[in-house]
Amino acid sequence: ATHLVWFRNDLRITDNTALTAACQHPSDRVIALYIATPQQWHQHDMAAVQAGFIYANLCTLQQSLASIGIPLLVLEVNDFGGIASAITQVCQQHQVDALFYNRQYPLNERRRDQAVEQTLSPEVDCHGFDDALLFPPMSILTGKGEMYQIYTPFRHALIHHLQTKLQPVLPAPKQRGGEVNTTDIPPFNYPLDSHDAFPAGEQPALQRLRRFCRENVMDYERYRDIPAQDMTSRLSPYLAIGVLSVRQCYHRLLAESADFLLQPQSGAFAWFNELAWREFYHHLLVAWPKLSMNKPFIGWTERIHWNPSHDDFQRWCDGETGYPIVDAAMRQMNHTGWMHNRLRMIVASFLVKDLLIDWRRGEHYFMSRLIDGDLAANNGGWQWAASTGTDAAPYFRIFNPTTQGKRFDPQGHFIRQWLPELGDVPDKWIHTPHQWSEKQGKPIDYPTPIVDHATARIATLVAFEQARKPQ
Ligand code: FAD
Repeated sequence: ATHLVWFRNDLRITDNTALTAACQHPSDRVIALYIATPQQWHQHDMAAVQAGFIYANLCTLQQSLASIGIPLLVLEVNDFGGIASAITQVCQQHQVDALFYNRQYPLNERRRDQAVEQTLSPEVDCHGFDDALLFPPMSILTGKGEMYQIYTPFRHALIHHLQTKLQPVLPAPKQRGGEVNTTDIPPFNYPLDSHDAFPAGEQPALQRLRRFCRENVMDYERYRDIPAQDMTSRLSPYLAIGVLSVRQCYHRLLAESADFLLQPQSGAFAWFNELAWREFYHHLLVAWPKLSMNKPFIGWTERIHWNPSHDDFQRWCDGETGYPIVDAAMRQMNHTGWMHNRLRMIVASFLVKDLLIDWRRGEHYFMSRLIDGDLAANNGGWQWAASTGTDAAPYFRIFNPTTQGKRFDPQGHFIRQWLPELGDVPDKWIHTPHQWSEKQGKPIDYPTPIVDHATARIATLVAFEQARKPQ
């Protein structure tokens, strides 16, 4: 029989559930397929740096598939609407008997897969697998059989599942068939950027995972909030497009720190906690389809009167707000496609609670810049910061960007990396450079603060309260 494996957000050959299933019998012919959808990517604001990362990883995937005797076909169609007929053609051309794929959970992706299955059946058997998470969405439920709305009880239930029924890591399939000749994959019809900080391929991803779990994870709890320290794993770009699986992360963590689940104060547990947030946000996305449709979790927040200003938004995007920690963070993302988690929380809070700008504008801007853009994590992070999500920061909790800066970048090491114009400002004043400049009578080439935080905070509280209790 001929088996077709359709790769999407699972660009790896190790621990790939669909690929392993397709390769179960050595006598079956296995071919692989990837379909780029530039128009769809535009609609979803995919960053050029993420598209470039997908392209680079597809090239390494082609090589690793070839090394086990599987050819990779790469097609391009405009959007999801064109996929069912493209796959039908591939199936006819190659006399495919069965299609194998790993599920994606956002609504459009699920609808796309349903359409493909309907078009192909009954001629082609379709097999979808849950692979992207530790457990399938809607399999970790409350006593009432519902998805959890609060994170901590969800994590308790997740740990219980992990202790009783975790899947092992699957090895890459064995070599099959003869040699496969490869030709270069033509670049997608989409802007493609690359960044040296994230080399493509499963091997670099695995090396980074191993090194992190061996050398850094024990200090993770202590330093993970300090952006100047390179102490988080930086695995998010690989996890977002499936060059690495979350099971590989979990098993590697277990191999290095066998009993971390019993040590909630440990660095290993703190890192696991982040993997569990990832899991939580993906499970939420399936339980509440409105999250894939630009809707807040908490309905009354739809009534907030947002600030429509284009200029304020643009200054935030460009890192020109006059708040050094915010601006340094935005410039880090604009230049590298990645931003530290603490900074994502600070800049998101600043956009929503200091500028009173609709969180969805920030969410889209993040997607258009991030190499690790992921609907579930990005939407979850934004709704958390904007206080529109489930188990989010309460709306009256508003970060003070200056205090956050002093706390997490006390000497301004991180700020100085991205704002060279503040080079002369002493550490003590790095978070309030204009106060220093006035005192010294020395001008600095840096914008004055876009808002006064204390005033903005009160306006935001009023706006949220009016929306919550309309007259
Ligand atoms: P580590 O600290 O090493 O964590 C390990 C892994 O756990 C990460 O690679 C990631 O896959 C996952 N993870 C960590 N924190 C979170 C979290 N809070 N929510 C969900 N998963 C998490 N993460 C994305 O992968 N894509 C996004 O588009 C994204 N957008 C965000 C937007 C906002 C406003 C906020 C506050 C957070 C967002 N995050 C997003 C979560 C988090 O900031 C990044 O996953 C993390 O900074 C990636 O760096 P790391 O790999 O070094 O993380």
